[in-house]
Amino acid sequence: MTATGYDLAVVGAGIVGLGHAAAARERGLRVVVIDRATQITGASVRNFGHICVTAQSGEARQYAERARELWLRYAGRAGFWVRESGTVVVARAADELAVIQEWSRAESGVALIGAGDVTGKAPVVGAVGGAWLPRDLQVDPRQAAPALARHLADTGVEFRWRTSALGVAGGVLHTTRDPIHADAVVVAVGHDVDQLYPHVAEAAGVLRCGLDMLLVEPAALPAPLRAPVLTGWSLLRYSGSRDVPAAAALRERLATEHPDLYALDLNQMYTQRPDGTVIVGDTHYRSTSVAPFQAESSFDALADVTRELFGLTRLPVRERWQGVYASAPEEFLIAAPADGLRVVSVTTGIGMTTGLGLGEAVVADLFGARSTGRAVPTVPGA
Ligand SMILES: Cc1cc2nc3c(=O)[nH]c(=O)nc-3n(C[C@H](O)[C@H](O)[C@H](O)COP(=O)(O)OP(=O)(O)OC[C@H]3O[C@@H](n4cnc5c(N)ncnc54)[C@H](O)[C@@H]3O)c2cc1C
Repeated sequence: MTATGYDLAVVGAGIVGLGHAAAARERGLRVVVIDRATQITGASVRNFGHICVTAQSGEARQYAERARELWLRYAGRAGFWVRESGTVVVARAADELAVIQEWSRAESGVALIGAGDVTGKAPVVGAVGGAWLPRDLQVDPRQAAPALARHLADTGVEFRWRTSALGVAGGVLHTTRDPIHADAVVVAVGHDVDQLYPHVAEAAGVLRCGLDMLLVEPAALPAPLRAPVLTGWSLLRYSGSRDVPAAAALRERLATEHPDLYALDLNQMYTQRPDGTVIVGDTHYRSTSVAPFQAESSFDALADVTRELFGLTRLPVRERWQGVYASAPEEFLIAAPADGLRVVSVTTGIGMTTGLGLGEAVVADLFGARSTGRAVPTVPGA
């Protein structure tokens, strides 16, 4: 630690910033986190809470595997809900099953299951089979990151809310309040990387991706979801399944049969929260800015496909919201514009799955073997 400040300053209290703060605190380092908001309100509370380990590949898979361990560790210490739920992927057509078959041959974590097993895990209609991904986890997105932030605060991480970063110069993080002196600074502001470091964001091709989401009342489905539910649309999205040879024919069929849904870049998926409400999503619009107004047709489309999948006549909606995340050709942006400074963003919709593992890797890169050797204080309930 410098005489005047911190070992690490983190800008952004979303799951990616928290992943860095947690990893540094584990080493006994002195950490401050600033966020311009009053509480966590970004993508890290607007998502599905799906820790989708098995569908990742390459670098994302490595971060996801580590994040899986860290989610379980911090849920135990901080006392938030985590479920070793697995994931069920519903196939309702032969070409969806073909993608799953090829994927399961390449990935040992993917088990091919029959229609009966699918409907035992989620009350869908029309399943012809599916995939079972037993290693995936689920958290409640509205609870997990805030609970982790509270836990980190209890262990000595300092949080400064309603404090915006203005930039970093000469090892000093300038903010809308006092300047912060730190040996290292991590800027983890999600899609807002285009505001603080526009040249870094533009070089990486970062856009903003806006998503439409619904929350459905607990009694809406005929039976509980025993696991997060993915569909044929999801098979085209994640790096583990989208590149198998059979995916091309599935993409072609969905684009031809459902041009409206294809234009929305639908990823039809569902998670059920502990209170029984069901998160329904999602659509994707990418641009340099997100339109301020959400079209009702997107929500209608989400409701239509949901009624069809679960055989419902009505869908009682409790809430609608928009999520935004960073989107770029590569899945991760990790830039070092200056010594001791890292600009980090998960540039596709997998930050809950990977953010904790990514944070640990970046902290290891910044601090090497450095650790104070002092134990992190344990807190009641840990
Ligand atoms: C609808 C939706 C569904 C998703 N579903 C999943 C899912 O199921 N599984 C999964 O793995 N991922 C999912 N994702 C992606 C995941 O939520 C994101 O990748 C992740 O939350 C990004 O975390 P973050 O910390 O980078 O960003 P954020 O959570 O957006 O946090 C960034 C923080 O930076 C702060 N900030 C910005 N600028 C400044 C500044 N100048 N000074 C100070 N603070 C600043 C903001 O206030 C904000 O709190 C989903 C995303 C969305 C939107």
